[in-house]
Amino acid sequence: QKETILVSACLLGANCRYDGNNGKNEDVLALLDQYHLVPVCPEQLGGMQTPRPPAERRGESVINQSGQDVTAFFVKGAEETLKLAEIYGCKKAVLKERSPSCGRGMIYDGTFSGKKIPGNGVTAALLEENGIEVIGESGIHSLINGADNETGTVRRNS
Ligand code: SF4
Repeated sequence: QKETILVSACLLGANCRYDGNNGKNEDVLALLDQYHLVPVCPEQLGGMQTPRPPAERRGESVINQSGQDVTAFFVKGAEETLKLAEIYGCKKAVLKERSPSCGRGMIYDGTFSGKKIPGNGVTAALLEENGIEVIGESGIHSLINGADNETGTVRRNS
């Protein structure tokens, strides 16, 4: 029985990113060999259009580059994502790093200048508060069978 993991849809190749593109990551896609993946885009689940202006967290709020407060969309998206995680029994989520929704550990600082600060996206924070482990795409080695976790080296079946 494969474990079911929540994944940021943009990492799988869905064009749900703010600019209408994706952040396809072949290592994340390769997790399909060992896991059931449930794709989610919290910003779309929260009712935002694609494309949309980029947004960044400012404290507890989320502000887009046009200066609009879009916090309510982000909170709704986080709640819908948590709901799906619970429906599918996910204990882990692989989420896109640095996003104001999906980022964990480091996010942009709210000035749209590319500067990063410690913090979590709205969805990443809610999932963690509810006991779901959030892993960024650069940290998925621990999920791959055959990976040498001491060194982080990934061994792939070819
Ligand atoms: Fe990707 Fe998450 Fe942004 Fe959606 S909200 S585009 S899944 S990083």
